[in-house]
Amino acid sequence: MADCLFCRIVTGEIPATIVKRTEEAVAFRDIDARAPTHVLVIPTQHIPAVREATGPEREQLLGGLLAFAAQVASELGLDKGGYRIVTNTGPDAGQSVDHLHLHVLGGRRLTWPPG
Ligand code: 5GP
Ligand code: ZN
Repeated sequence: MADCLFCRIVTGEIPATIVKRTEEAVAFRDIDARAPTHVLVIPTQHIPAVREATGPEREQLLGGLLAFAAQVASELGLDKGGYRIVTNTGPDAGQSVDHLHLHVLGGRRLTWPPG
């Protein structure tokens, strides 16, 4: 999608600090990190949010995205201390970019529940 910020990060039109990428997914540093490690994991395909990830193909994509996020966390050294993977969906959750993304947060003790 031409006017989608994260689609433009996928194409390289907007620069980002890429951590890992495959055909299906890209992991990059969040511009406004809320933890010592804060990475966003997105599908290369434009899907607005997890609620739109329905049907067998997208459900498979979701599984792959979660596994990819776990690999990224591991490669960033978060396995021992642990980490959180979260996806905001819609206004009540504060979703600000309408391209499905998983936040991978770690490197400090996280509070629960989130605000
Ligand atoms: P949301 O609030 O939708 O769950 O998360 C969107 C995230 O995207 C925020 O954490 C925000 O800091 C991050 N973000 C917004 N614009 C940019 C950008 O241009 N580059 C990068 N790397 N992250 C961004
Ligand atoms: Zn997009």
